[in-house]
Amino acid sequence: MQSEEHKYVRSIELFQQAKQYFVGGVASSLHKAKTDSHPIYIERGKGSKVWDIDGNEYIDYVGGFGPLILGYCPTAVDEAVIEQIHRGTVFAAPNELLNKVSAKLIKAVPCAEIVAYQSTGTEANMLAFRIARAFTGKNKIVRFEGHYHGWSDEQLISNSPDSLSIMGPRNKPWRVMGSPGQLFRASEDIIVLPWNDPDLLETVFRRHGQEIAAVITEPVMCNCEVVYPKPDFLETMRSLTKDHEVLLIFDEVITGFRLALGGAQEYFQVTPDLAVFGKAMAGGYPLSSVMGRKEIMESGVKPRGTFNANPLSIAACFATLTELEKPGVYNRIAGMSQKILSGIRTIAGKKQIPLYCDGEGSIWQIAFGIDNRLADYRETFRVDKLTYQKLKQECFKAGLRLHPFRGRLYTSAAHTPEDVAKTLEVIEDALKTIYS
Ligand code: PLP
Repeated sequence: MQSEEHKYVRSIELFQQAKQYFVGGVASSLHKAKTDSHPIYIERGKGSKVWDIDGNEYIDYVGGFGPLILGYCPTAVDEAVIEQIHRGTVFAAPNELLNKVSAKLIKAVPCAEIVAYQSTGTEANMLAFRIARAFTGKNKIVRFEGHYHGWSDEQLISNSPDSLSIMGPRNKPWRVMGSPGQLFRASEDIIVLPWNDPDLLETVFRRHGQEIAAVITEPVMCNCEVVYPKPDFLETMRSLTKDHEVLLIFDEVITGFRLALGGAQEYFQVTPDLAVFGKAMAGGYPLSSVMGRKEIMESGVKPRGTFNANPLSIAACFATLTELEKPGVYNRIAGMSQKILSGIRTIAGKKQIPLYCDGEGSIWQIAFGIDNRLADYRETFRVDKLTYQKLKQECFKAGLRLHPFRGRLYTSAAHTPEDVAKTLEVIEDALKTIYS
């Protein structure tokens, strides 16, 4: 990315070193965009900002890819975790706070009668698949193109095909594997469909309803561009699944605790049978969960995992939820996002820049080359990703850290009106440079 290399000397040095130690020099493929020459090594974060190892400061809209709903180092979470560190980090036994956290979760999340814990979204989705199969006695899972549910063999299917040509026909999409080494046979019980198309879903139910255990969906499709459910789509999925005795699973790893305390299911008022949470639930610590109706959750599946409900993540979760329960938090965050969005719309309108921005709650997006909401993953090929990369780079030089791959951004409770003002200034200058 960074053409002004003198500003990133230490980051470049460390990346050269890292290439000797791990593949591609990054521990997660998400740490560096293909178009960037090196990642930025972050030294610390506080509130809405991060500082890199070369001393550059950035207002951050990456939010750790989702967990940092309260921003970096929120005092309440830090204090709770530090206190727990002094008492012990893992006991292979429950502690008292776990019951209190569970009670809070069940109170907040509409579908939750029982909670099961894991550490990552991938694991929790694996558990949800297993529970759905145990409860229904059926094997097949319907999933949608462009949605991400984790990186296991059965999950990393059709989440980011490179081109339309490898996706097959709309009414009978091919299953596109996401990684070398993945077992193709792991996809045998997965049915892939385009999103936001109730007719296709109904057709599949008519043909395969007897074999389908569950439909899994992100309630807002956040892992390509941001794609919102069409009016009534979530409701229609709810009624179709009920009619065909298929479970509906919401993957709320992103939307959970972000759109509302009770997640997308509270926000859109559609209650699934099971829901998967992660990321924001523990404000920056690894914790995930499956929640759902008692009879489903008690279908005999035992959650495994050394670090399940570990005391540090539970302490972080309790503190995070306590902060999020305070009156006005969600309105304040959403208000901040809306100010950014209306500011960008005004700037783009003045200069007649073909840019679309949109948002719900703390999740917002910038996309070039389109002028309205997309309906599914196939439509995301219309988005001008190159111009987004240019915007990201220009913003980065001026102290704004945007998502490395796509225009999906997160606001946190730590963002301030001053951040918003600076953000809009930087974006206006960046657009001027790009379109000059
Ligand atoms: N589900 C969704 C919707 C996600 O966005 C992600 C990660 O980005 C996952 C599941 C997987 O979570 P994790 O990276 O914690 O395994």
